[in-house]
Amino acid sequence: MAKFVEMFQNFIFDMDGVIYLQDSPIPGAREVINYLKSAGKSILFLTNNSYYTPEYYVEKLSYMGIQASPDRILTSAAATAMYLKKHHRLKGKTAFVIGGPGLEREIKSIGLELLTTDSGRNAHFVIVGWDTNFNYEKMKVATLAINGGAIFIGTNYDKTFPSGEGLWPGGGAIIASIEAATDRRAKIIGKPEKFMIEAALALFDGKPPKTVLIGDRLDSDILAGKRAGIKTILVLTGVTSREMLEKSDIKPDYTLKGIWELF
Ligand SMILES: [Mg+2]
Repeated sequence: MAKFVEMFQNFIFDMDGVIYLQDSPIPGAREVINYLKSAGKSILFLTNNSYYTPEYYVEKLSYMGIQASPDRILTSAAATAMYLKKHHRLKGKTAFVIGGPGLEREIKSIGLELLTTDSGRNAHFVIVGWDTNFNYEKMKVATLAINGGAIFIGTNYDKTFPSGEGLWPGGGAIIASIEAATDRRAKIIGKPEKFMIEAALALFDGKPPKTVLIGDRLDSDILAGKRAGIKTILVLTGVTSREMLEKSDIKPDYTLKGIWELF
């Protein structure tokens, strides 16, 4: 670990596939995080999932023996709120949100009024993430609003969501259905878009040369890190195998079998 500890001050960790696999912690995750903390390093946890609140992840990590405060967790929902605040005038504006409690809370927190399906077709913004209660009515209202001029934002473009049963449709599949209906493309915020990483860097004042991103997906984590100009470490405990790495054009700066090899 000495090498990485000396090289970097700020560590951005993707969570699923790096710290845990669904509900099982990955060996060494707790020890590595605690070591980095004791060495005075800054740590931020990242997820493309916009459904849950940061508190949900605080609890999940705590169950695995990792202590984190909500402001050290960046979801694509929070990054979406940061993006809207930075790039749009929000005063007096309304939003039709398709997503979970995490996304609704973040959008409310920046002062946008949330509209229901009754009035959503008049919204200024349509903001879409993973929603397990998605249905035709929501797709219809989103479509009418976007066709009426609403700005169309997607939290992340992950088309699938890994579950115990296999792959479920992800937020990206819901966004794609509305793109099909409107013939418009959503502005996407989450990885591999670099805004997600820029938001992370802004949150803990992470300067690129001193900051490293640790992730398990080449076309998401590693690509986002590269676009944002920071160093990247791929771990092979998630979706990427060594064979996939060899075939890919996207190359991380370093590759480890798992987070335990940071030691
Ligand atoms: Mg991951």
